[in-house]
Amino acid sequence: MRIPFFPIPAKGETVFSVIGRCSERLGISNHELMMLLTRQRYTKTVFSSLPGYLTNIAAAMPKGHPWQDTNTIIFDHTAFPYFTYFHPREKKLNTEKTLTTSGKSNQPIAVGMGLSMYRTPASPRHPRFCCKCMNEQLIDYGYSFFQVQHQLPGVSLCWKHNEILFDGCIHCGPYPLIGKKLTMPGQCLCSSFKARPILIDIIGDEAKWIAENSTYILSSKSCGDNQTEKLRIGIIQSGFCKGTLVDYSKLADAIETRFNHKFLTSIGYPAWENDKPSPWLRRYFNHGKSNRQLSTVSGILIMGAAFKNVKDFENGSVIKQIKSQSISINLGDEQPESWKKSLTQTLKDHDFRISSCANTLIKTPWVISKEAFKQNITVPLSPNAIERIGNKNLQQIITKLKNGTYKKQILNDYKISEWTLTLIELSVPNIRKINKKKAKDLILLKHRKTVKDFLQRAPSSTRNDVIQQLPRTYDYLINNDKTWFQDFVPKATKKASKKRANRLNWQEIDNKLAVKIKETVKRVLNNGKKPLRITASYLLSQHGQLQRYSSNQSKLPNTSKTLNEVTESKEQYFFRKVTWGIKQLNQAEQEISIDNLRRTCGISQYRLQPHLSEIRNLIYSLGGKISSKSILFE
Ligand SMILES: [Zn+2]
Ligand SMILES: [Zn+2]
Repeated sequence: MRIPFFPIPAKGETVFSVIGRCSERLGISNHELMMLLTRQRYTKTVFSSLPGYLTNIAAAMPKGHPWQDTNTIIFDHTAFPYFTYFHPREKKLNTEKTLTTSGKSNQPIAVGMGLSMYRTPASPRHPRFCCKCMNEQLIDYGYSFFQVQHQLPGVSLCWKHNEILFDGCIHCGPYPLIGKKLTMPGQCLCSSFKARPILIDIIGDEAKWIAENSTYILSSKSCGDNQTEKLRIGIIQSGFCKGTLVDYSKLADAIETRFNHKFLTSIGYPAWENDKPSPWLRRYFNHGKSNRQLSTVSGILIMGAAFKNVKDFENGSVIKQIKSQSISINLGDEQPESWKKSLTQTLKDHDFRISSCANTLIKTPWVISKEAFKQNITVPLSPNAIERIGNKNLQQIITKLKNGTYKKQILNDYKISEWTLTLIELSVPNIRKINKKKAKDLILLKHRKTVKDFLQRAPSSTRNDVIQQLPRTYDYLINNDKTWFQDFVPKATKKASKKRANRLNWQEIDNKLAVKIKETVKRVLNNGKKPLRITASYLLSQHGQLQRYSSNQSKLPNTSKTLNEVTESKEQYFFRKVTWGIKQLNQAEQEISIDNLRRTCGISQYRLQPHLSEIRNLIYSLGGKISSKSILFE
């Protein structure tokens, strides 16, 4: 069925925003509008990163509306072009086809696209907006709306105004406001709207770059057959390689230099984890080969290491200076330079003062320190430095380093700079290696313990369970402690998997659920609130068991029996609502008429009319008084 009116979407307006404006214009509830548009009542789908039920929405559009074409919906009003940017062309086309011909929930499609694997939500829980954009919209369009560009993962600034995004009202809370689901930017429940900034601690050039380039990708028309391969080649041309293979350590360093550690951590994509390039990075190009889902955030960050921006990526021009930088790093493998050969002597000549030594050699102190580590040169601390650090602290720091304490931890605890810590390390022979080794041992023990604890909790677990439930630990152990892991954790055998299948005690689940449902019904019937119809799905979802019940109905006979007993027919529900309404009016000591009964219960006169005599009897039996002007009066 077509609806008579639907707003024309603004450029880049999100799907939920257009729907929100529609429900405001028509003055009907969100659920009612959702039923008309999607044939189901929940608004959740339109708030997710990719709305589902698109064919239903298209079919509901008035004649001539642009959304009759589902392609327009996904390409112009969702982040679909962004999410699929790095997907191979064929995969992209397939997803597009499934999505634009689907009259169902988008959940499986989103999973297929890898959106659930994003380390930062693929779309924010609370829709975002920019205050400056909002004011411009009010002038240009006469209303405000939400834009797709502001909802992209990892984006915290407006690409256009370079200002932090907002997601609600300071007084009323984040959007969507409870009880008023689809509110437009700038609207709220109180009379003094004040925009609520999103929670983020980093807003610098990195955030700006991400916002601009994510937006660029969203509207990019470039659709190479295999963007990932193009990216891999670019990375290699930039010098992040060992021969023809990607050198992930170099790449991780470059990404961290480009975006800085704090920012990357704030969006959930640190380049390094546990002294190794992070898993999202380490496996990126392998995914490409196996045609698995590639997160666009990962792709953009990798791109940032080798290209000035997306535009340059699309044109294939890599950053030249990175190439020369990486060459200078590589020089160590080729011809040892003369300054390196004589470094010990030069340091001695400068009283082991690294900075003046660096000045003489025209190098940075970091380069000198790196080379000193490499050659195992001990550089004693200057009396000044010792005084600055404090003798007691110095001894503690050295002990901690020897015990494998993380350097970041030490920097935090003693409030010293990274450079000071480097100087301390240089003053104690081999301490950097000892620290590294100890820290590694500690991580190993930690992961071993995680596995041991896991097996203690669930003794019948197999390797597969570890892979699924402790992916990071598995990853670490299989790379660093393979023999121990394989000795300690049994492989899945037929026997083991059979045991696992029986681990759920269905009878117990069934009995417990049946009891809980009865309790819920009792509670709902006695809570005095306006009645809701007691249905099976309502009761099951109250206990979070709707999914389990629908897929295992045969294993839950007691629950089925109980549901049969307690759920209401439409008629039962009707009379329960009427009874509740009469009681309310009695309590308020009002005379009862069809009119006030209709308003109290929320049932139309048309539906009350056929039951006048039953209602009359109910009123009398509950001790109510009928208004003499009402048609109920005899
Ligand atoms: Zn803006
Ligand atoms: Zn407010």
